[in-house]
Amino acid sequence: MSRPYFVTTPIYYANAEPHIGHTYTTVVADTLVRWHRQRGDDAWSVSGTDEHGEKLVEAAAKAGQTPELFTERMSAAFQHVWAELGIAPSRFVRTTEPAHRRNVQAILQRVHAAGWIEAREYEGLYCVGCERFLTERDMENGLCRDHERAPELRRESNYFFLMSREFGWLRGEIESGRYEIRPERYRNEALAMLRDESGLGDLSISRPKSRLAWGIELPFDREHVCYVWFDALISYLTGAGFPDDPAFAQRWANAEHLIGKDILKPHAIFWPIMLKAMGMEPPRRLSVHGYWNVDDRKVSKSLGNMVSPLAMRERYGFETFRWFLLREMSYGLDSNFTEEALVERVNADLANNVGNLVSRTLNLVEKFCDGALPPLDASVARGLEEALVAAQDSIESAMAQLQPQQALAAIVVFASEVNRFLDATKPWKLAKLPSGLNEATKILGVAGRAVAALAELLAPFLPEASARIEAKLAAAPITRGEPLFPRVELRKE
Ligand SMILES: [Zn+2]
Repeated sequence: MSRPYFVTTPIYYANAEPHIGHTYTTVVADTLVRWHRQRGDDAWSVSGTDEHGEKLVEAAAKAGQTPELFTERMSAAFQHVWAELGIAPSRFVRTTEPAHRRNVQAILQRVHAAGWIEAREYEGLYCVGCERFLTERDMENGLCRDHERAPELRRESNYFFLMSREFGWLRGEIESGRYEIRPERYRNEALAMLRDESGLGDLSISRPKSRLAWGIELPFDREHVCYVWFDALISYLTGAGFPDDPAFAQRWANAEHLIGKDILKPHAIFWPIMLKAMGMEPPRRLSVHGYWNVDDRKVSKSLGNMVSPLAMRERYGFETFRWFLLREMSYGLDSNFTEEALVERVNADLANNVGNLVSRTLNLVEKFCDGALPPLDASVARGLEEALVAAQDSIESAMAQLQPQQALAAIVVFASEVNRFLDATKPWKLAKLPSGLNEATKILGVAGRAVAALAELLAPFLPEASARIEAKLAAAPITRGEPLFPRVELRKE
């Protein structure tokens, strides 16, 4: 039976178009899905847009639009970009869609009935950027640390989710690895949050409609809407088919969330306790990556350095950009993007190595074998078989640890080995010797199989290039044709 696998990207906040950070997480999720499907697993993926909250109402107002129209447009922009890039999540959730609203309200009702929610008068310093009341530690010099803006003094009646009663339980889940948070540094960070509870407390999960009308109504008090994080996290359940899809339970038991480190707290702390309150298990795993900086600066709207994936496709081709993202970032650590580094990297790895190997092999098969792949000679293949097994093993262990950059490095090593094999055996010289054609044919039979193996290794990472290599090998006759990865030049504007 095929094993189930379920992966999510964050439900992206729909207040700006997708940039390099969104693209990275989405590409990693797509790669994992393809990786699992290649192994015969039953993989399911969810992405979507988070369309509620005060910040969104602000962004819509700035754009001179209603929140309905603004979120419609932004969500369409996300869906359009992923479709253009050949990335198709199994389910794309909009948090404004009726199925999701029904789920949020049913869950709120259930959690409320089970005694997890309490009304309290609350006065405190509120940051619109964070969409919550701040604690002492969220502030520096009277400003919100994250947003560098002054919070407002607010007094309101709020509903609180009684999260703090389960901090001890959650610590146990994380320490035992039943809820796995990786890499290690983020597991430690989550445990540190739980050790020092002064930064946590219970979670305010309502906003009075008098202040914020845009949101999902609380089913037990129509004068309030649901806090945006409580609503957004539930989208993972909606995307997995909660509550009716027969595949839901299987998916949920194998859930992996991919997130950036800025949203560790809601995923590491709020979410597992919310699930416990619903009578459900935490996800299996939370995999946290670092930030992409661009030209050594933080990505921000005001700097205009957001890096549009469609612009990168236009300049360099999408799969070269995809290669760079996967190859450059060590999952968990921050990484830097420059177009100069992209050009250098893809020329070295793809144009000069992988692409060159494919071209020269196909060219020699066209020239000396009448365009037909010769049969495999096991005695000649031996050295390369070892190299292939070594590459497969490295990729397997890299993917188990979610280190795609190491998987790609192993593919590059394998392509180099095959290139060296051709350089050493020189079939183009042999073929011209009176009795050398037979030997040259054997060598090209092996090289052709190595190129086919390369296409298979590449499939989860560069699906389009992999399919093109397979098509070239399946053609009758085989010809060199167009280069797979033409050299790219810096086209920075
Ligand atoms: Zn803030």
